[in-house]
Amino acid sequence: MSGADFEAELAEAKDTIPTIEGFTLVTCVAAQVRASYRKTDQKQVNVILQFPEGYPEEPVVSQLTSKTLAEKLLSGMVKMCDEEARSLVGQRQILPVMRFVRNFIISNPLCVCSEEIAAIKRDLIKENDKLKLKQDTSQVHMKIVQERYWMNLLVTVPDLYPTQQVSIEVAESNFPDLLKKFFVGQAVELARRCVQPPPKPKPKAPPFKPRPSLLEVCQFLVQDCVKRYPGENCPVCRERVMLRDPEAVAKDPKKRVERVYCGHLYHHGCLAKYLKTPPFKDGKFCPDCGKQIFHDKWKVSPELAEARWAAKQARQRELAEVADFLS
Ligand SMILES: [Zn+2]
Ligand SMILES: [Zn+2]
Repeated sequence: MSGADFEAELAEAKDTIPTIEGFTLVTCVAAQVRASYRKTDQKQVNVILQFPEGYPEEPVVSQLTSKTLAEKLLSGMVKMCDEEARSLVGQRQILPVMRFVRNFIISNPLCVCSEEIAAIKRDLIKENDKLKLKQDTSQVHMKIVQERYWMNLLVTVPDLYPTQQVSIEVAESNFPDLLKKFFVGQAVELARRCVQPPPKPKPKAPPFKPRPSLLEVCQFLVQDCVKRYPGENCPVCRERVMLRDPEAVAKDPKKRVERVYCGHLYHHGCLAKYLKTPPFKDGKFCPDCGKQIFHDKWKVSPELAEARWAAKQARQRELAEVADFLS
């Protein structure tokens, strides 16, 4: 290609780049073509192209910088740009490389949380678990396993991430429904707090800034939920609170799991018995953490519990007297 051809390619780039949605052209001279592409505040990248002596018989040299995207992701993208350029030696390469960068950002929406995903893979996903990235739906799919319990989670990363929070869904699971609802409810709340300022900020707190929610939510769901509960013991009987066989729970309603305010799990039968047994003074407290037990099913004041207990005792005394009398 002669100098005239290169001049023509530069002229074409100068005319075309500003017409591609999201691009701003910064420089377009023989020494360097520089443009920036912006999809959202977080998905922004600067593309710098430099031309070797033998261009276009030799591939254009790409460099990418970004204030928001991770270094590792950028170096991976540069390798792909190089490949793209190599496939076009002898032809015009400026516009194809620019378009390649734009397409990559558009078709890989999870690029915005590449570091969080790397941390999830490294720290949270163990050998029996699975993680899949679905770029077409901007979702992270996970199957998290603990003993014989498992949960399939779908976490969706919105286009305006991290200004907008991730959304969470349990696709399938063999955890009790009650726990499943609690896991998701708490995870949604955690995600919300990442992007919404607290209603009453602390007096000297710095101004609120939305922060990424993906890793935080996954840490909670994996470490504090799925991996935690199957091995826990009931604070009352000290036996495993979740039976080893997930199917067996359905057959024994007393072994149904109840969750109280502090987060500890009880067998339904054990919690019912514990809440009906004195002392009642000032309420009932979790034997494991000392926090007061609140539960929707057993909203009973200490006085009422005391009265019920006394009535039950009286009835038992009467029965005992009857039994004495009969014997
Ligand atoms: Zn128990
Ligand atoms: Zn507790």
